[in-house]
Amino acid sequence: MSERFEILKGNITKLEIESIVNAANSSLLGGGGVDGAIHDAAGPELLEECRILGGCATGQAKITGGYNLPARWVIHTVGPVWRGGEHEEDELLASCYRNSLELAVENDILDIAFPSISTGAYSFPLDRAAEIAISEISKFLDSGVPLRRTVMVCFSDRVQTAYENALEKF
Ligand code: ADP
Repeated sequence: MSERFEILKGNITKLEIESIVNAANSSLLGGGGVDGAIHDAAGPELLEECRILGGCATGQAKITGGYNLPARWVIHTVGPVWRGGEHEEDELLASCYRNSLELAVENDILDIAFPSISTGAYSFPLDRAAEIAISEISKFLDSGVPLRRTVMVCFSDRVQTAYENALEKF
């Protein structure tokens, strides 16, 4: 993981970084939580661009501009809703991280920040989500990609502790 990965506490919409990931819903037309905060900060042009994308399947990712955000790009990914763990939730959450990172590399993006996908309104158990996130990011960074900086942005101490604990296992 090394110096290319970090865990920060804060508001992802304020981060001065090339790209941020949005934990969107499948309509890509905005919602609550981090999605609402990103749309509020980016301004109405983000919603206009999202409208032409035609939604996004769970586990997949799509990219737009960042408009009024400090970030130049927003990568929208749709996390799974937790339904007990027997509905491919783990695999779908892993795909969110992998597909977002792949989309970043395809677009020559070097720096990317993630929120804790699925662990708010979508109720994915936090510790389990943190292990999946760290594991996928770690595998991806080890695969020789040119990413320079990958950040997990935690909105609370509880979230930050979960990701720090997960990182210790690597
Ligand atoms: P989901 O629907 O994927 O569960 P939520 O937005 O409800 O997404 O929650 C995902 C995580 O994002 C939660 O840990 C929540 O606290 C966090 N979050 C909410 N707003 C922000 C923000 N502005 N910056 C970073 N993280 C945020």
